Amino acid sequence: MKYFILFGPPGAGKGTQATAMVEKYNLHHISTGALLRKEIAAGTELGLQAKALIEDGHLVPDEVVEGMIESEFQSVKGVDGFLLDGFPRTLPQAEALDAILAKTSEEVTATVSIMIPDEMIMERIKGRALKEGRADDASEEIINNRIATYHNQTEPLIEYYTKAGRYNEIDGVGTIEEVQGRIFTIMDRF
Ligand code: ADP
Repeated sequence: MKYFILFGPPGAGKGTQATAMVEKYNLHHISTGALLRKEIAAGTELGLQAKALIEDGHLVPDEVVEGMIESEFQSVKGVDGFLLDGFPRTLPQAEALDAILAKTSEEVTATVSIMIPDEMIMERIKGRALKEGRADDASEEIINNRIATYHNQTEPLIEYYTKAGRYNEIDGVGTIEEVQGRIFTIMDRF
């Protein structure tokens, strides 16, 4: 199995690009954000816990998303690999992912990081808010919390995967097709 990580700040276009990537490379898309929103919509215990954190722009506890990821790995069959979108988001999550994969003697194949400047994050999320109505896109304050969370907790993963020789970065500024072309150039190597 191949394990690709789609990395980048909120609003970088991960969800948009993931759709084309899973189709072209026969991968199963796992978006922890989408899985959490599903739990919230279903009103589960987990959803109730996650809701307040997400709507303040904070992360949910590592164990929660780690459990979700492992059960997806176990239940999905018939694909060539997985595309992780929004996971890992902290160093402990990256270590947990390595430990989960080590159980079956597997490892992360590659990280594809889509980079955009902070000013563009705000602009893109505000555009998405008009179309999708996500609660965590609703105010500048929440978006700023998410940008800060990204810089403090998620950005250290760049160094983690660079050291592991698994880090690839592309410029996320451009049309959807331009960015897609850059991503495919990297994915074709694996
Ligand atoms: P975006 O990429 O636009 O920030 P996501 O849909 O990936 O949005 O995630 C939305 C929210 O869900 C995050 O701000 C966070 O609160 C929660 N979340 C998603 N993935 C994780 C994760 N791996 N660890 C902790 N919280 C997460």
